[in-house]
Amino acid sequence: MRKYELIAPCHFGLEAVLKQEIIDIGYDVTLVEDGRVTFLGDEEAIARANIFLRTAERILIKVGSFQAETYEELFQGTKKLNWEDYIPKEGKFWVAKAASIKSKLFSPSDIQSVMKKAMVEKLKEKFHIEWFSETGESYPVRVFLMKDLVTVGLDTTGESLHRRGYRKLVAKAPIAENLAAALIMLTPWNKDRILVDPFCGSGTFPIEAALMAANIAPGMNRSFLSEHFDQLVAKRNWYDSMDEARDMVDLSIDVDIQGYDIDPEMVRISRENAKLAGVEGLIHFQKRSLDELSHPKKYGFIISNPPYGERLEEKEDMPALYKKIGERYRNLDSWSMYLITGYEQAEADIGRKADKNRKIYNGMMKTYYYQFLGPKPPRRDGK
Ligand code: SAH
Repeated sequence: MRKYELIAPCHFGLEAVLKQEIIDIGYDVTLVEDGRVTFLGDEEAIARANIFLRTAERILIKVGSFQAETYEELFQGTKKLNWEDYIPKEGKFWVAKAASIKSKLFSPSDIQSVMKKAMVEKLKEKFHIEWFSETGESYPVRVFLMKDLVTVGLDTTGESLHRRGYRKLVAKAPIAENLAAALIMLTPWNKDRILVDPFCGSGTFPIEAALMAANIAPGMNRSFLSEHFDQLVAKRNWYDSMDEARDMVDLSIDVDIQGYDIDPEMVRISRENAKLAGVEGLIHFQKRSLDELSHPKKYGFIISNPPYGERLEEKEDMPALYKKIGERYRNLDSWSMYLITGYEQAEADIGRKADKNRKIYNGMMKTYYYQFLGPKPPRRDGK
């Protein structure tokens, strides 16, 4: 079966998490770069990567790469690629996104139009036609230039993978689902441990945790562009991968996952989203302010995205809020706490330096993932 190089873009700073996920679903990673991981896979891998990866942004088939410092080189390099292997005669094709870093060519719109022209020229020669109806399926191409190296990928995903289909309703500043999943994966949390998000907003952290706990693949409730790429991914790959995903689901588990928010509307939205995700039975959502945060058990996890004073009028509330976070955390016996926030004074106000800290780009915004580590629980066998 034909092997492809597949490229999975992800949030900057989370490449290692995605790499591990790709290895875990059975593929060989060949390259890890800032914001993307490349791996090898056949047509089944295209379906499985889209359905199973929790931290990827999308899955691209690498069509090729070449050096280009001029538009003529970009045109010729693009024309050399075997577009006829990917795009059928009636296909609708265009360069949906161009990104350029440290390269001579940097205007996205020029890169897009030059490449489209080159693709048209190539396909004219291959298909012996002069005109393309483009009435068929969509074949959006994505390209990134890094130090004049042009890497060209065909998008197999369509709407970004962070959209699982469950978050119809969102909070003011929701965290992306794939980022939330990656942040949970960076902790030692597993379904046998307690998880509390005291600022749950639209419920993203608790829902992602519940999906993991129940082994529900993130892509089970959505569709993907390449489901219609009949010449590239035979339908049976989608059926088989969905069957595999369905067989893995285990809802008969005992978990302690909680989401609180001070805003009753957020609690309502969280419940609604959890229902859409099929995990409403695994999460307890409640209207509760930070002041009431407590838990009778030991060794739990707080994983949360507290407000960070994006708006000026909220800024002045931040010191008191983070002091309170520190206070409530100290009251929890043997807990660990993981916070993603753009608030720079977090450690000072919480009153404890984080054991680990990681810079993470949430879109264009620089945020920190502060990790306060509690002790490990004793092993059940008493060792
Ligand atoms: N991660 C969430 C967004 C969190 S935004 C998501 O993906 O949707 C921060 C949330 O904290 C808001 O929903 C806000 O209502 C809540 N909040 C603010 N102050 C609070 C307090 N003192 N106690 C509990 N929740 C609070």
